[in-house]
Amino acid sequence: MNIILMGLPGAGKGTQADSIVEKYDIPHISTGDMFRAAISEGTELGLKAKSYMDQGALVPDEVTIGIVRERLSKPDCEKGFLLDGFPRTVPQAEALDELLAAMNRKVEHVINIQVDPDELVKRLTGRRICKVCGTSYHLQFNPPKNEGVCDKDGSELYQREDDNPETVKNRLDVNMTQTAPLLDFYETKSVLSNINGQQDIQNVFKDLDVILQGNAQ
Ligand code: AMP
Repeated sequence: MNIILMGLPGAGKGTQADSIVEKYDIPHISTGDMFRAAISEGTELGLKAKSYMDQGALVPDEVTIGIVRERLSKPDCEKGFLLDGFPRTVPQAEALDELLAAMNRKVEHVINIQVDPDELVKRLTGRRICKVCGTSYHLQFNPPKNEGVCDKDGSELYQREDDNPETVKNRLDVNMTQTAPLLDFYETKSVLSNINGQQDIQNVFKDLDVILQGNAQ
């Protein structure tokens, strides 16, 4: 299963990705998570990515494509993968096609989680994430049982630096202009499915799972 999860920031990609990888036992590859890990480890990649991320801008294609190429060559990707947050530009999508073609593989499902942009600002600014396992919560829509603490492992929750109102606006603008053409790119290849992200988390997953099981209309 070679899957791409698309949707504007805050659409629920990370939350749905957790359920998909659990059910289908494939690795979750989030370029945003990879950049954040590189930043906290203080690597050269992290230093490069941070200045773009702080502004809500996209990290340059050659850097991003490089880390995905390396990740997809790992043995755990042989049975499939779930890409979350990549590709975000047409050149990234073209590079991914080339990479996969070289392995005799292709993208099988592109699932776009649709949410009204006005709703996304509320979602992103209220988002809180577990420092250890990365589980995402929302202060209002999906709060943890105990304030500030992860339900799964009891670790502290934090707010992503780029989830502040100004950066959020920029991220949404950047995504709407640079990422929107990707929908046409995948529509043309007949692999795109749109799902309604404005339902509760379990129902979004149900819709998504129908598509993954190949029963989409
Ligand atoms: P995310 O966690 O997917 O919301 O990504 C957080 C930030 O990481 C984005 O705002 C970008 O600065 C950077 N980023 C993540 N994925 C990509 C990508 N595919 N291309 C360029 N920048 C990316």
